[in-house]
Amino acid sequence: MSNPKLHIVPLGGLGEFGMNSMAIRYGDDIIVVDAGMMFPDAELLGVDIVTPDFAYLEEHRDKVRGLVLTHGHEDHIGGIPFLLSQIKLPIYGTAFTLALVERRLEEHDLLKETKLNRVKPNDKVTLGPFEIEFIRVTHSIVSAVALAITTPLGVIIHTGDFKVDPTPTDNELFDLHTLAEYGKRGVLLLMSDSTNVDRPGYTESERAVRPRFEDIFNRAEGRLVVSCFSSSIHRLQLILDLSAQFGRKVAFLGRSMNSVTEISHNLGLLSIPDGVLLRPQDIMTAPRHKVCVVASGTQGEPMSALSRVAVDNHKSLSVETGDTVVLSSRIIPGNEKAIGRMMNHLARRGADIIYGNMNPPVHVSGHASSEELKLVLNLVRPRYFIPVHGEYLQMSKHAKLAQHLLTAGLEKTFVLETGETVEIDRIGARMGPKVPVGRVCIDSGSLDEVVEDMIIRDRRHLSEDGFVIPIIAINKHTGKCETLPEIVSRGFVSMDDGLVMQEARQAVARTLETSSAEERTDWGVMQEKIRADLRRYLNKQTQRRPLIMPVILEV
Ligand SMILES: [Zn+2]
Ligand SMILES: [Zn+2]
Repeated sequence: MSNPKLHIVPLGGLGEFGMNSMAIRYGDDIIVVDAGMMFPDAELLGVDIVTPDFAYLEEHRDKVRGLVLTHGHEDHIGGIPFLLSQIKLPIYGTAFTLALVERRLEEHDLLKETKLNRVKPNDKVTLGPFEIEFIRVTHSIVSAVALAITTPLGVIIHTGDFKVDPTPTDNELFDLHTLAEYGKRGVLLLMSDSTNVDRPGYTESERAVRPRFEDIFNRAEGRLVVSCFSSSIHRLQLILDLSAQFGRKVAFLGRSMNSVTEISHNLGLLSIPDGVLLRPQDIMTAPRHKVCVVASGTQGEPMSALSRVAVDNHKSLSVETGDTVVLSSRIIPGNEKAIGRMMNHLARRGADIIYGNMNPPVHVSGHASSEELKLVLNLVRPRYFIPVHGEYLQMSKHAKLAQHLLTAGLEKTFVLETGETVEIDRIGARMGPKVPVGRVCIDSGSLDEVVEDMIIRDRRHLSEDGFVIPIIAINKHTGKCETLPEIVSRGFVSMDDGLVMQEARQAVARTLETSSAEERTDWGVMQEKIRADLRRYLNKQTQRRPLIMPVILEV
């Protein structure tokens, strides 16, 4: 090609929250920045995660040179197993990010065949015509980087997720100098995180939660239960340090919590004070005022540690009157009901529950507010600007912010939605042809800590195995199921195979019978339990994995 163009191709995460992925193409070479997932809305019941449709990359598989990762949050790495099941490609990221990816690949048996390349901030990697420098940024997860991608047409800066935290708990500062140097030399295109463009001022530092936690540790009389994202190493470090200071021992509940603390400890990112750890099986026998439990499940995920604790169905912990439960995370939109249900259960057990907005805060955002966004715009001073990581509202505000701020030098901003592309050549930048994009629903079979095989389910799979809808009618007054559950199915075993279905109805009834009265009042929990049990049963009987969507009716 005599005059190759740069193509900016968002595969996910623009105009929607989650599943961030961006392809950058120059001539016959493509690199991919991040491959994330999205947690499904309630209307996608029966599906665990959603990833972008990587059809564009499949179509150009011979051109794809590698996947470059900004950080280890699920909305940036959760789609990798699905991507790798379609095309093989080497992956580049920092040690902690790759360790989280490794965990995922192991679950899917993809680890051996995948080349993982560790990078450090300020390392440079060449992939075809792209030279990529990794620039340290601060975010709610450790070891996050921005990317400076030098192409034959100029430099592209992709910020990844960031805030400008002047006092991160690991003391690893945002490398504003390198960013400014690129800005000084001239940047062709900036793509920057739009999540918190609505928020004036500056986002609080990770250290800002310390005063509130000190207060909580001071006041708590019974057990202290803290729930946060397992990847919040900053938060886990604080809890470990305060526990050591206040004479509590720490137990971790939840599979992801345990593996991430181990990973980060091995990488030297989490320091665990001597003698501070407590085995989960010793929680209930240790003196209550000497126990701090860190549990996964801040979003009310039905099978997570905290959700189980909430309905008193966890083997290691029973919450009692006088215990304190802290929810140290944001509420991901769509999860309000599940979280509300979980907190109601905990309140019923007599726990003191601390959550939400308060001053000082119990949680801080990981994304830059408007003043920090302005700082980055000012340092980078790009010729073109594409806001990323946000819904249309945030991205259009971010575009206006840039236009308002960068009166000289900024030629054009593009507010794109997933699938809309921009092409850049020596003459200028303009909208390019649309590419096919979409969402793929994956039924992973494992939410947090149910140890089961992970199953990648794409639409082809769905059309082969069909779907099954168990319909359960529960008596409003007795909380009991008075008739045998009905099962409706399409595309799954021929209906004359009555025996399997008859037994499947019994299996659902058994799940109901063996659940506690409290669990039965929580439809989210019941749907998840029925789904898990029925899936196990049907898979055993038929070796097929239909999509299962339980419906519970109150009569
Ligand atoms: Zn993030
Ligand atoms: Zn993100």
